[in-house]
Amino acid sequence: MSDNLLINDRPGETKLHLAGVIRESIVDGPGWRFVVFVQGCPHHCKGCQNPQTWSFTEGGYDTTVENIMKAVKENKLITGVTFSGGEPFTQAKALTVLAKEIRKEGLDVMAFSGWTFEELKEGANEENGWMDLLRELSLLIDGRFIEEQLTLNLRFRGSKNQRIIDVQRSLAEGKTVLSELN
Ligand code: SF4
Repeated sequence: MSDNLLINDRPGETKLHLAGVIRESIVDGPGWRFVVFVQGCPHHCKGCQNPQTWSFTEGGYDTTVENIMKAVKENKLITGVTFSGGEPFTQAKALTVLAKEIRKEGLDVMAFSGWTFEELKEGANEENGWMDLLRELSLLIDGRFIEEQLTLNLRFRGSKNQRIIDVQRSLAEGKTVLSELN
């Protein structure tokens, strides 16, 4: 993660707790993407590349949807934004607010999750806001990183169990539909 965004603590703004952002990436999804890394992950996968993002109490910094949007709008090259981590779905409600703002700019939103698409659908409730976030996503790359299934040959993914899900088609058709990017 290359940089921090300024803390902006005006009341009423939607806050996020981030590990960092990357303003341009071609390895975190299709096209040129701005990447938001949230702080905090409950999965603790063996061999995780970002163990500094695990803690919910130490590390990271608070910022706001407004600050992230300022940085997103500064970069005219990007075609979309990726939520990574950490575990994005631990901050699903705030990320849903952010995703709606990103989509208003004509950019697509995708996310990584250590939970599978099926786990997210089945575990979704009003309190965690998982379904609301899923509804904003074009793609979900799902599943924990499994070191024994490590691969360098799959686009955007670290282990063979992970899938690229076409979220909008999956929700519309009521079954898990893989993206053609797999
Ligand atoms: S889900 Fe991702 S960030 Fe969390 S432990 Fe696994 S590989 Fe690391």
